Amino acid sequence: MPIESFNPYTGRLLRRFKPHTAAQVERIVAQAHKAARTWRRTTFAQRATVLHRAADLLRERQNELARLMALEMGKPLRDGRGEVQKCALTCDFYADRAEQMLADEIIETQARRSFIAHEPLGVVLAVMPWNFPFWQAIRFAAPALMAGNVGLLKHASNVPQCALALEKIFHDAGLPRAAFRTLLLESKDVAALIADDRVQAVTLTGSEGAGSQVGAAAGRNIKKTVLELGGSDAFIVLADADLELAAKTAAQARMINAGQSCIAAKRFIVEKPVAREFVAQMKTHLLALRGGDPLDENTQYGPLARPDLADDLTKQVEASVQLGAKVELYGGQSAPGSARFAPMILTNLRPGMPAYDEELFGPVASVLIARDEQHAIELANDSRFGLGGAVWTSDERRGERVARQVEAGAVFVNALVASSPEMPFGGIKKSGYGRELSHLGIREFVNQKSIWIG
Ligand code: NAP
Repeated sequence: MPIESFNPYTGRLLRRFKPHTAAQVERIVAQAHKAARTWRRTTFAQRATVLHRAADLLRERQNELARLMALEMGKPLRDGRGEVQKCALTCDFYADRAEQMLADEIIETQARRSFIAHEPLGVVLAVMPWNFPFWQAIRFAAPALMAGNVGLLKHASNVPQCALALEKIFHDAGLPRAAFRTLLLESKDVAALIADDRVQAVTLTGSEGAGSQVGAAAGRNIKKTVLELGGSDAFIVLADADLELAAKTAAQARMINAGQSCIAAKRFIVEKPVAREFVAQMKTHLLALRGGDPLDENTQYGPLARPDLADDLTKQVEASVQLGAKVELYGGQSAPGSARFAPMILTNLRPGMPAYDEELFGPVASVLIARDEQHAIELANDSRFGLGGAVWTSDERRGERVARQVEAGAVFVNALVASSPEMPFGGIKKSGYGRELSHLGIREFVNQKSIWIG
């Protein structure tokens, strides 16, 4: 894919970027390798000063950064500001807690003293997606830098300006220049970088296909990886749920980032007695949302991030309909080749249809009817993915019981699935492995070293 800023709402090319040459990449990697040796020797307090300053800059520049996201990938301004604020919060979070999270862990043994020390690995490569251009990258960078690692960011090809703006924030915050660099790189050149001995580890957030290729390249080179991949989260509504709240949250959960979120609810599994009413209410909420120009403050959802993504989603919907899916809410792509896509609801789904088996990365809700609680759990788990999930019921203990049985990295009871810096985030099955955020996230890219003093 060419590295370019393309406005998905207007269909206009804004700017094209030349990828870094092999010589430029070599220089950046060599400098990062060198910077890793000095950055690891800084104190937590020194690193925290940089991260707090980065948080301040994120807050100061939130309007400008939100505008960049609106232009490059279609996110409405207010969502963009929210994303940047969450980035700032996460920089502060790790700045304040990293030292405690990575403190030596005393282990009682026969030794006079024995403990686990947590040491940085060195240069970590991050391959990131466009859907939350700042958040995905910060979720990696804040803990990695606080742990004493340095970062190389290969961002998605359609958000180069966001990638460069993030690099600038860290540099303006006082981070040594080589300790965080954006590489303008095509995905075909990532494997060579992974093979470079100066790169110690790789984290990828993106699709299953990219995860599998990056994971394979890392495996060939014996490198640690974290993979945050796709999801097709179940949103289970039991008959005793607060239906109004569930339906309202369902619409919101499906429409996060115009439906392009890994943890957006995608499969709505509803107990039969309330299914008709749930669909009617969800439809009302979806219809009430204002789609439009992401630069307009009143817009609630923007276009998809690229026209080809809307084309692909249309194909998934059409293939499902051909196999018997029923359209409950007519929306869809405004015209072939356009990125604009209005919300849809599909019912009458079964295995073999894309809307049942695959991730729908856009504003299309798949509704499945469950006979009872057990059937709802079976449907939820009948997926190759295992990222997040939600359960709606007025009985909290029942909610917890169901949550424990859903195969996913996170399940929320009576709440919208969302990430927060305190809680681990990641998946199982084809949604990937490893965890980001919380104390588990910061420990992914450290050497957990046993020290034994006899
Ligand atoms: P994508 O096509 O996989 O791209 C993600 C990143 O991987 C981009 O930087 C891309 O670069 C790069 N890439 C693609 N193929 C590659 C390859 N063979 N080798 C090396 N790098 C490669 O994913 P996307 O369409 O941008 O994002 C949507 C997917 O990400 C969805 O499945 C979504 O669920 C998932 N996602 C998961 C999480 C999570 O936390 N679990 C969060 C957000 C999104 P180019 O742009 O240059 O191709």
